[in-house]
Amino acid sequence: MTQPKLVIVGSIGIDHIETPREKRENLLGGSASYACAAASFFTPPGMVGVVGDDFPAAFLDLYRKFSVDLAGLQQRKGRTFAWSGVYEENMDNRSTLETVLGVFETFQPDLPEAYVEAPYVFLGNMAPDLQLHVLNQMKAPAFVLADTMDLWINIARDKLVEVIGRVHMLTLNESEARLLTGAHNLLAAAGALLAMGPEYVLIKKGEHGSMLISRAGIYIQPAFPLASFEDPTGAGDTFAGALMGRIAENGAHDASAIRHAMVHGSVVASFGVESFSLDRLAALSRDEVDARVTELMDMTRV
Ligand code: AMP
Repeated sequence: MTQPKLVIVGSIGIDHIETPREKRENLLGGSASYACAAASFFTPPGMVGVVGDDFPAAFLDLYRKFSVDLAGLQQRKGRTFAWSGVYEENMDNRSTLETVLGVFETFQPDLPEAYVEAPYVFLGNMAPDLQLHVLNQMKAPAFVLADTMDLWINIARDKLVEVIGRVHMLTLNESEARLLTGAHNLLAAAGALLAMGPEYVLIKKGEHGSMLISRAGIYIQPAFPLASFEDPTGAGDTFAGALMGRIAENGAHDASAIRHAMVHGSVVASFGVESFSLDRLAALSRDEVDARVTELMDMTRV
């Protein structure tokens, strides 16, 4: 049985997305889909998630094409989680039109035996009690990254704080960091989040990049500049998946390894937003990733 070095847990969804230029239906989405596809450029991840009996076989084939290990993927009777969203003109803001939980509502992320000793774990965006359920099964992971969203900050704050206290790194976007801590200043917010327990806080700032904060200092990572892009859905999950994939590939998670992994996260996310769903990632090669990593590092060298 394959023992993946990296386990990724999260939502698997059918997305319906409307941007100012285009409306697309029945796309493969969800935090686990984006994160697994992104991680696969560096290590074959083990995916933990749930789909319904309506889930297209072509999407399972796509996961296999990305070398995603599917031992932790459950297929249940019922509808696959579905999400519809619409982007505003500037693509910065988006609203959720509809969320259909389907089989995700009763999801229990039980891990296959082969996954429980994995050193690296990405807890993608989902209910904090499900994230805790995963943590409780892991033997002694070396490095766990957790993501979240405003929904859980609003309806499950205590459980979320418990998750934050048990992971090595937390990732969230600027507005979520402010909502969770009540601090407007991002360094103050990060300080409050570090006080909850993790060693690192990674604040995502969309097209303005991201910021890693720990007691040892701050690292600022620009996004790869793009003249145009099609769909920013899943960019944060793609960033996090590539980051964790690169860390698992290297087998190191010290501050310098995290910085290097953030460059890879930015690069893979920049490819991801060039098309809807996983389309661009499915056509991407490791050589293209590495070339853009060099380009981004050249852009930021003084
Ligand atoms: P992001 O752009 O990083 O927020 O990720 C977008 C992905 O999150 C989409 O592909 C959706 O299927 C998925 N998603 C939307 N709402 C939720 C939710 N409440 N829980 C888990 N995943 C969600």
